[in-house]
Amino acid sequence: MLHGSCHCGAVRIEVARRPRSLTQCTCSICRRYGAQWAYYSRKTATISCNPDDVTAYVWGDKTLEFFHCNRCGCLTHYESVDKEDDSRIAVNARMISPADMADVKLRLFDGAETWKYLDRA
Ligand SMILES: [Zn+2]
Repeated sequence: MLHGSCHCGAVRIEVARRPRSLTQCTCSICRRYGAQWAYYSRKTATISCNPDDVTAYVWGDKTLEFFHCNRCGCLTHYESVDKEDDSRIAVNARMISPADMADVKLRLFDGAETWKYLDRA
């Protein structure tokens, strides 16, 4: 079990294991956030916070919600607007200690153009 949180601690993150890789994406929103995504199922990642402590940003085709802390501003995770038991949750691994992510490969995903990874797995 790995733990993380936003800077002020209002949003707490718990994930079952280290991710196989982290994804840095070039799309219009991810490049601005500077997030490094670790993908989990809703069963293997838990976000704990008071609902009033976060804001969800929804844009474009309105399928994803990007959550940030209202107090410290950190972007903590995104997930689909339609939440199902097996739907994916993307945790911003920047909220987790760098020591816990030290050996995890960082991959660059071209979300802006080709929708492909720009490296080999
Ligand atoms: Zn915070």
